[in-house]
This record gives sequence, C-alpha cells and structure tokens, in this order.
Amino acid sequence: MPAQQIDGQAIAQAIRAEVAANVARHVAAGGQRPGLAAVLVGDNPASEIYVRNKRKACEDAGIASWLHRLPATAAQQDLLDLIGQLNRDPGVSGILVQLPLPKHMDESAVIRAVNPLKDVDCFHPENVGLLTAGHPRYLPCTPFGIQQMLARTGIPTAGRRVVVVGRSNIVGKPMTLILMQKPSRSFPEAGDATVTVVHRGTVDLPGITRQADILIAAVGVPRFVTGDMVKPGAAVIDVGINSVERKTVGDVDAASVAPVAGWLSPVPRGVGPMTISMLLHNTLRAAMMG
Ligand code: NAD
Repeated sequence: MPAQQIDGQAIAQAIRAEVAANVARHVAAGGQRPGLAAVLVGDNPASEIYVRNKRKACEDAGIASWLHRLPATAAQQDLLDLIGQLNRDPGVSGILVQLPLPKHMDESAVIRAVNPLKDVDCFHPENVGLLTAGHPRYLPCTPFGIQQMLARTGIPTAGRRVVVVGRSNIVGKPMTLILMQKPSRSFPEAGDATVTVVHRGTVDLPGITRQADILIAAVGVPRFVTGDMVKPGAAVIDVGINSVERKTVGDVDAASVAPVAGWLSPVPRGVGPMTISMLLHNTLRAAMMG
C-alpha cells in the first residue's frame, strides 16, 4: 500500500484558526494586539515570497505586521540600528530577520541583537540555550511545525527511532533537541524519541536512515532520500524547498519513497505552511509574555 499523505496544509490551517481565535480572545480581554515586524535585506526572490506569505498569514490571524526593507548594500550598523528600534517598540511583539543576509553581514551578530523575548524564530543563543536545557521560551518554527505535524497526524515519537538528515541551526539541530528530550510541564512537546543525526560527514548514511521509524530530511539536496534509504512503513517528513526547472521539489524522492513509506509529507503543502503557522503561534506567545 502506498504511503498515506500527511496533509500539512490542512493541519497548518487548523493551527492558524486556533491562533486567530486566541488572538481575538487576547485582544477582547484587553491584551495588546500581537504584531510581527519582518526585516528583509536585499532582494532575494525566495525571501520575498516567504515574507509575503508570512505577512498575509499574520493579517488573516488578526496579527499586525510590518515589513522593513533595507537594500543589499546597507551597512550592518543600519540593520543593527533598525533592530534596536524594533526592540524598543512596545507595539512589536515579534521580530523576524529573514535569512540569509548579504555576505558582508555577520549573521550571528545580527541574531544576537534581537531582544530574546521578541525572538519568535528562536535563533538567539539565549533561546537556543533554554531549549537545550529543556525549558524552552519558544520552539523554532520549522521543527515545531514538524513536531505538530507528527502529533496531530497521530504518529507517536516516544520510544521510537528518529533519524534527522541535516544538522543546521534552523532545522536539523533544533529538531533533534525537540524530539530527543523528556516531556515535562514546561516542555510538553518534547518527543522522548531516540534520535540520530546524519550529515555530510556520516559514513554509511543509508544504513542509518533505514533504521528510522521516522525519517526527517532537511538536506537542501533535491530528491536526496530515495526508497532504498527508507524502512518499510516509516513516516518520512520532507523539509526541503528546492527549485528545479522552476518547480519546487523536496529533499525526498516521492516517486521511489511513497511505495515504501507508511506516511509521507508532500512538498509543497507539507512542512512549509506548518512553519508559518508556528510563527503565528510564537508571535501570539510573545504578545502574551509582553
Ligand atoms: P543547510 O544547508 O543549512 O543544512 C543542510 C544540512 O544537510 C547540513 O547539515 C549538511 O551537513 C547536510 N547535507 C547536505 N548535503 C548532504 C549530503 N550530500 N549528505 C549528507 N548530508 C548532507 O539547510 P537547512 O537550512 O537545514 O535547510 C534544509 C532544507 O530545508 C532546504 O531545502 C531548505 O530550503 C529547506 N527549509 C525548509 C523550511 C520550511 O519551512 N519548509 C524551512 C527551512 C529550510
């Protein structure tokens, strides 16, 4: 039997509806309307699309949103000044600096400049530290979206073997931190799974991915995961967003994986919309903490 599709779009919509209802309740109770300030440096076409989608989703959920643009030639200090201004603005609950930044900017210095309370992407080292210690303030949007996708589809993680392909700070590494930790009152999303991370330096990567009950591909290489790398019946989550001949394709070769896997998340309409839903969730959380 071919893999069942995980409907990321439908789950993402359900979360957006929940966030919208909670925003309305928060505002009706006298709370400040949540607001997300997006900062876009340069004119990367993919970033333009992401930021546009994020702003539209904010508006639909009753979250205020602002877009601040800087030219690709802007000095790093201009960006730091803008972030400082947004840090001080009480109407701004969350700040999103769209990555990647132009090469002349120090990404890590820019991330550290964002007030950790407004760091709804959960990139600031203070928030990464809290997540690592098992008391997260925020969960980073893409891995949080994957956790929600699994939970809401009824795919258990506790006690199961998860393999994450990719060790980036944005996806692979925090995914591991969420799924391997012990659930608690301050961290109910923790997965209690046995997690292995594979990457460019891994020897016999397919031998390891074949042991996964849940396989998460965040590689950035089109159709990297093929059917022979998947355990029969496994849940396969495709995080990839790659452009091949003007088509968006994932990091999973759906044609060869679908006949083997038990569950498969599609690209598009999989993890992408989940990421945006969790950004809305985090922005509301930021407003409620403020
Ligand atoms: P990245 O380039 O920062 O990291 C990729 C990781 O994959 C690295 O750790 C590297 O070691 C590993 N890798 C690369 N080539 C490999 C190979 N041949 N063998 C083994 N490991 C290899 O990428 P990222 O930011 O983690 O993003 C990964 C993918 O997910 C990209 O396609 C990106 O566009 C996509 N993405 C999607 C969302 C979303 O919302 N759906 C969010 C972020 C990233």
